[in-house]
Amino acid sequence: MDRGRRLAQDAGRTRRRAVGVEVSFAREVEALRLGAGATFHGEGILAVTKALLQSGVAYVGGYQGAPVSHLLDVMVQARPYLDELGVHVEACSNEASAAAMLGASIHYPVRGAVTWKSIVGTNVAADALSNLASPGVTGGVLIVVGEDYGEGASVIQERTHAYALKSTMVLLDPRPELANMVRLVEQGFALSEASNLPAMMQLRIRACHMRGRFTCKDNVAPKVSTRAPLGAAAPFDYARLAHPPVTFIHERLKIEQRLPAARRFIVEQKLNEIFPGTRGELGIIVQGGVYNSLVRALQRLGLADTFGRSPLSILALNVTFPLVPEQIADFCRDKRAVLVLEEGQPEYIEQEILAALRRKEITTPMFGKELMGAAGEYTAEAVALGLERFVGKYVDDVDLSAGRSWLQSNAARRKEIAQILARPLPPRPPSFCVGCPERPVFSALKLAQQEVGPLHVAADIGCHAFATFEPFSQGHSILGYGMSLASRAGVSPLMKQRTLSIMGDGGFWHNGLLSGVQSALFNGDDAVLMIMKNGYTSATGTQEIISSPDESTRDSAADKRESLVAQNQTIENTLRGLGVGWTRTVHSYHVDEMRRTVKEALSTSFAGLKVIIAEGECQLERQRRIKPWVAALTKRGARVERVKYGVDEDVCTGDHACIRLSGCPTLTLKDNPDPLRLDPVATVIDGCVGCGLCGENAHAATLCPSFYRAEVVRNPGFGERALERLRAGARKLLLAA
Ligand code: SF4
Ligand code: SF4
Repeated sequence: MDRGRRLAQDAGRTRRRAVGVEVSFAREVEALRLGAGATFHGEGILAVTKALLQSGVAYVGGYQGAPVSHLLDVMVQARPYLDELGVHVEACSNEASAAAMLGASIHYPVRGAVTWKSIVGTNVAADALSNLASPGVTGGVLIVVGEDYGEGASVIQERTHAYALKSTMVLLDPRPELANMVRLVEQGFALSEASNLPAMMQLRIRACHMRGRFTCKDNVAPKVSTRAPLGAAAPFDYARLAHPPVTFIHERLKIEQRLPAARRFIVEQKLNEIFPGTRGELGIIVQGGVYNSLVRALQRLGLADTFGRSPLSILALNVTFPLVPEQIADFCRDKRAVLVLEEGQPEYIEQEILAALRRKEITTPMFGKELMGAAGEYTAEAVALGLERFVGKYVDDVDLSAGRSWLQSNAARRKEIAQILARPLPPRPPSFCVGCPERPVFSALKLAQQEVGPLHVAADIGCHAFATFEPFSQGHSILGYGMSLASRAGVSPLMKQRTLSIMGDGGFWHNGLLSGVQSALFNGDDAVLMIMKNGYTSATGTQEIISSPDESTRDSAADKRESLVAQNQTIENTLRGLGVGWTRTVHSYHVDEMRRTVKEALSTSFAGLKVIIAEGECQLERQRRIKPWVAALTKRGARVERVKYGVDEDVCTGDHACIRLSGCPTLTLKDNPDPLRLDPVATVIDGCVGCGLCGENAHAATLCPSFYRAEVVRNPGFGERALERLRAGARKLLLAA
């Protein structure tokens, strides 16, 4: 590599390192360095990250999202170590660019891994995935997807399995045990190379966050790497492109060569696991990822010991696509009955197994969704319910009474709670963090709508989606990350009043700039877009974007308490460069100004795209940034002022308009100290970060004058102490009078 290119790359790396998220993954980065024989302790997702390095991965990319953000976050912070190995890391702008990155493995013998949250990320990546899977890969490809399904999920409930089927990609679903997950990563690359199929590994939330250990191997520096780059481009090979007529050949290759090769590899390397039971007449076929829930359910029913050993035979599918019909047939052939545990719907695996058995004329009765719930997560309880029906049907010499009474007591408890709660508990919806800069924007929107009437609000993915909950209840649809402006394209021409689209800066760069802004400009749409410029993709863990404040800004900030996001003008410059003719930047805490700006955007005679940029640094990131700085100041005796808001309980009228306008968790209620008044009064509790919204709202909405602003001063100077002594004396005199 020439020196200029190396320097430019180093400069890029330095910047990215310098602006790394404030959360430190130093311990995790150390764990990545462990060598052969050392014991790794930690979370499943970190074990997978380590396994990538043990597999000789040459490049890693992705887009953050729960539950796999950790993989990319740690890799980004591990850049100096990865540079030593020659591994390239790319924080991609969205999942489509991450999937396209895998194109490196079409021609070149390099292993690549990318990660994102599924199903939403896989939807975004789908085009590149189809075009990757058609020509197939030379170097192994592993796509680690966070299967965000079931309890704790934050997206629509669909399955990644459909993509593996339609594009013919291997789907790994490892049994959640760290050594097994690591084995599957290593074998996943090898399987991808043996079959030329890209491999996906789906990891559920529980698998990512479970803790365990495994014995490490040394990390493998890739043969082709940033330290040992290729000397020349691959020769032109039309067969590696993905357009007709060669795509017709690809389709045949998938069926005639790649899938058979994958099945051979799965059998030879024993990727699926068989746990033979002592009484083999009943069998269970389970997705690897559901295995732990199955074992817990078996234990509850008295059908497994503490170590998970069960008398029933279990086939754990660490690879759920492709299945190996012969392996399935061998497992089912001599059984009295088989139960298939396949989480989610549609039941692709169940149907495939049924077809395989029918083709081989195996008549073993097979059960699945008719005994299990058709939809929803397979928790231990859900699995136990289905198992009890299955085992009870075929076996009468097993005592299931303990399990049955557990299930009955769960049902009874739910019924009891429902009776106690004749009046449902008040819901506690998720909300913005205390002091979030996005909350004031929705206060302003609420106030603006009191004057202009209810608006159609196209909402989006991001922290601002919390405004769809009480007390704001704003947002008519969410069509995808960065899709709000695009999603109003069919609404606004059919509506008398202008619509409002809300988008975060993360969504703007992910998709909104092209699918929303560019399209609205091209079509000359009369639209209003609000961009929440908080400086990070906050909802996924405050990762950086191109418009994040950089290190030099942080260093040169005279007062680190100030919001730093104003310094980076990338969004504003991009909008100007694209030709947006109406933009306003408003500090998000200036509620009244925001209210007026929204009204202006809705009523101006300017007919094109109008963009309001609500500027205010993510409070979570700001607090992380200033806390050590404030602690250091306090320690060395410097004057430190902390602002707090409060409510004068004697003045509070008890109408709670302030709470309905803010929803801040630290602005809450307490009993009225006046025995003659029953309504509880508003109060500000300890967590208040003094963001100022209480004061802004009181002013913008002309609320009752009960709010006060207090400055808590640490290490006050001589003058301040003297003044306070004077005031204390005056108070004493007044009280005595
Ligand atoms: S993470 Fe940041 S942007 Fe998101 S709710 Fe919290 S303060 Fe607001
Ligand atoms: S000033 Fe008000 S809105 Fe801001 S953190 Fe304190 S209580 Fe919450």
